[in-house]
Amino acid sequence: MAPNYEVQVLVVGAGPVGLSLAMDLAQRGITVLTAEIRHRGEPPNVKCNHVAARTMEIFRRLGVARALRNTGLPPGYANDVAYRTTVTGMELSRIPIPARQDRYTATGGPDTWWPTPEPPHRINQIYLEPVLFAHAASTPGLTILNRTRIDSFVQDEEGVSATGTDLDTGEAVQVRARYIVGCDGGRSEVRRAIGATLSGTDVVGRVQSTYFRAPELLGLLKHKPAWATFALNPRRSGNVYAIDGRETWLLHNYLTTEETDFESVDRDWAIRQILGVGPDFRYEIISKEDWVGRRLLANRFRDRRAFICGDAAHLWIPMAGYGMNAGIADAMNLSWLLASHLNGWAGEGVLDAYEAERWPITEQVSHFAMNHALALQKQREAVPADIEQLGPEGEALRAACGRALYDLNVQQYCCGGLNFGYFYDHSPIVMYDEEAAPPYTMYDFTPSTVPGCRTPHLWLDDGRSLYDALGPEYTLMRLDPAVDVHPFEEAAHARGFPLEVLDVKASGAVALFGRKLVLSRPDQHVAWRGDALPTDPGALLDMVRGVKSQTTG
Ligand SMILES: Cc1cc2nc3c(=O)[nH]c(=O)nc-3n(C[C@H](O)[C@H](O)[C@H](O)COP(=O)(O)OP(=O)(O)OC[C@H]3O[C@@H](n4cnc5c(N)ncnc54)[C@H](O)[C@@H]3O)c2cc1C
Repeated sequence: MAPNYEVQVLVVGAGPVGLSLAMDLAQRGITVLTAEIRHRGEPPNVKCNHVAARTMEIFRRLGVARALRNTGLPPGYANDVAYRTTVTGMELSRIPIPARQDRYTATGGPDTWWPTPEPPHRINQIYLEPVLFAHAASTPGLTILNRTRIDSFVQDEEGVSATGTDLDTGEAVQVRARYIVGCDGGRSEVRRAIGATLSGTDVVGRVQSTYFRAPELLGLLKHKPAWATFALNPRRSGNVYAIDGRETWLLHNYLTTEETDFESVDRDWAIRQILGVGPDFRYEIISKEDWVGRRLLANRFRDRRAFICGDAAHLWIPMAGYGMNAGIADAMNLSWLLASHLNGWAGEGVLDAYEAERWPITEQVSHFAMNHALALQKQREAVPADIEQLGPEGEALRAACGRALYDLNVQQYCCGGLNFGYFYDHSPIVMYDEEAAPPYTMYDFTPSTVPGCRTPHLWLDDGRSLYDALGPEYTLMRLDPAVDVHPFEEAAHARGFPLEVLDVKASGAVALFGRKLVLSRPDQHVAWRGDALPTDPGALLDMVRGVKSQTTG
């Protein structure tokens, strides 16, 4: 049967990861079809609340950062994380995070020092996805089929034939593509079809979660509102995210290891204990959002022409707000690799980099997340019985608890290392040198041009972000204009390799970059660096584009 659609890449799933992948592929000139079960504009569950700075950098490149920044909590609503005895009770400590109206100008906070043009953004997934969807729907080359489920696919030498169902008419949908990418979430059928299996820790913790409307709550707060408010008391500990900054809230009630059933704790009782309100307080449940925190990773991310990204490839407890964000990083890694090959300037070998680069990082983040969740669990279990006691003793106790809470949690809410510190150290398409990448923690990192690291960001003398000045594909950054790069440009031209040369003029650039030449990839990671051109520029270019080099020059 002739296919209904023929495209270069079929993306299964239009969640945040699938939409980001599809937009990036289309912007690189690839024809893409994205199939999605949900109706057009149907919001997802109220899950993710944090869009990482690294993700916002990507959204800036895709042209959707401004629209996102203008959406979410009211502009002046504090994005702080507060620790209290109850949501309406006494405050123990607070991690200051700028409101979105101050996001580009605020200084002095634990996440305001990062060298980036796009700081993080606190916005719930229910507001994020419609903005991403609208942007994707207006991207040339990208078709989104809502109410379409992909049921199966087969691979051959040339491509993939997928069969799906139009869920409104029940009719079959046939798609022919060169590659298929499963961005189809935690229950991924594409993962199953490629024979990948999940392993790790099946249950790190259970959370009884409730999305509710309570217009009275803001007025009952004794302290300044916060984006996230954690309540710690001997009766029940949990936390609450402000969703619209007015009347909607998402409350997580962390169950203990003995509470293995979501309904084993009286939901209404727990909500009132966490909020610190009496029986007269009125709220309306919008939905129950109970979830299990896991640490699971697929044993492989690819089978020939089929790949998986995002929750399809890994699932972990969303500590540091890094589930979706890691998935979008997968997508941005895979998209340029696929596009470079489909556009004819990279070999098939370039595709091997996806799993080689992303698997170790996601495995590492999954451990960060789980370890952090376990440390938090210990902190909740250790809440002193008299934490709410009035007077100096109680105050001293609260101050000590507040300090410990701040120290542990600033690492996850201001996770500079997770955003910018990770590096690809076993990639087949990175030309490493003698220097090792600087170590990083969840919180901290050192910008570096060691190959495999994120290209360090700085502001150019002309006021532009370096990232806005980079080309869409590879960019050779030159720190010393006296270095003749013509042989490099000629070798690139001979291979149809898209290269721009950028003279980086910015104070501090020479010291920060440490070399006269730095080659930045389409995903803003360093592929190579040196003080002079390599003796055989063609061989270097062949290496970074996944082609076995045959010629010199
Ligand atoms: C309580 C909670 C809080 C969280 N907080 C954060 C946070 O702050 N930061 C963060 O980064 N992450 C967070 N996460 C994780 C985040 O929500 C997920 O990682 C993210 O949604 C994954 O995106 P995805 O696109 O991979 O998958 P999904 O969002 O699951 O999207 C998959 C899509 O594929 C579609 N689909 C499935 N099968 C098919 C098929 N066969 N055919 C067509 N379409 C299909 C589905 O309808 C769905 O729309 C949180 C998660 C939870 C539970």
